[in-house]
Amino acid sequence: MSKETLAKSIREIPDFPIPGILFYDVTTLFKDPARLEELSDTMYEMYKNKGITKVVGIESRGFIMGPILATRLNAGFIPIRKPGKLPAETIEESYDKEYGKDTIQIHKDALNENDVVLLHDDLLATGGTMEAACKLVQKMNPKKIYVNFIIELKNLHGKDLFNKDVEVQSVLSL
Ligand code: IMP
Repeated sequence: MSKETLAKSIREIPDFPIPGILFYDVTTLFKDPARLEELSDTMYEMYKNKGITKVVGIESRGFIMGPILATRLNAGFIPIRKPGKLPAETIEESYDKEYGKDTIQIHKDALNENDVVLLHDDLLATGGTMEAACKLVQKMNPKKIYVNFIIELKNLHGKDLFNKDVEVQSVLSL
């Protein structure tokens, strides 16, 4: 199966969640067993030799491929969540969105300096969410951070926000 076939399985929804936004709906890829397997295989091939010890997924669409990939890489899975959801002690990072601010949290004891981290979310748009997630993970001084998306919206240049020492890769560039 080609990347083109994978891309075709993503449903495009105009004017969601607000007028003027074209929303890429990955649920149509996930519901097809062959395409879900292809995506999982592709992501596994990208990271199988990187020594990843923890996959960190961003709420909520990062909680789908994140644990699938973690299992395949023999890594643990760590959630990054919106405020008030994680039960133990957390650290947090706030970032600007189009309208107002948002905050994300991670458990304080989730990672340490021996970890090689793969941060995952479904889609890179402006990059604000993942930049904040990266800052959060960096506070725990892991050995190395990789960043992965299923889809990158190339016209928005979200990749430009990341330092050279963070490797950013996407399965599909749309
Ligand atoms: P950014 O912070 O502007 O890069 O936006 C990325 C965040 O918004 C991610 O957590 C995505 O899940 C979500 N997002 C933005 N646009 C879309 C879309 O078209 N499809 C799915 N998720 C989206």
